[in-house]
Amino acid sequence: MAVRTNSLPSPVQQSTGLLLHIGLAVLFLVQVILLANASGVDALTRPHGIDQIESTFGQECNSQANDAYYVAYAVDTGKSYTVRYHWKLRGIVGNVRYYQRIGGHLSNVLDGWWGYNCRLKRNGTDWSTHAYGIAIDGNTAGEHPWLGHNHYHVWTVAHRGVWTGQQFYDGINFNDPGHFQWATGY
Ligand SMILES: [Zn+2]
Repeated sequence: MAVRTNSLPSPVQQSTGLLLHIGLAVLFLVQVILLANASGVDALTRPHGIDQIESTFGQECNSQANDAYYVAYAVDTGKSYTVRYHWKLRGIVGNVRYYQRIGGHLSNVLDGWWGYNCRLKRNGTDWSTHAYGIAIDGNTAGEHPWLGHNHYHVWTVAHRGVWTGQQFYDGINFNDPGHFQWATGY
């Protein structure tokens, strides 16, 4: 019986196959790099402390700090609020709004929404995180943040989880319920 040798690939076939594999690998890497760049808008690290806040988002009251906005519709009063914030957070705030909608939390969008504001901290001489466009206050009519409460009147844990799920730090940790900021240690 003759030994079949024609099932072995010739050197030409081998190198063609190798080139094909290298080509596919390069295409795959290019896709990975393109995807990483496309999501780069969200590839931020939440800053801790004022130095990191300024290196990530710039100086207080800079032109990018109020360069993104959305309109919050308060379902209890029917008022609408234009909430301005830092453009680098547009993907992250977009995620908050997305999960509010699909999670059935829009009924918790209640009166009083405030974002960017070139102001100092309440009762302080430091710039507020609102001056960097990285803080949003919600439901201020219901939560009375100016009274220094360390509890929520209205908002549920689930609703606050929409914000903290996107790495917003809950102001309840420093007696400012309804305030969410994209920074810690300040
Ligand atoms: Zn606030």
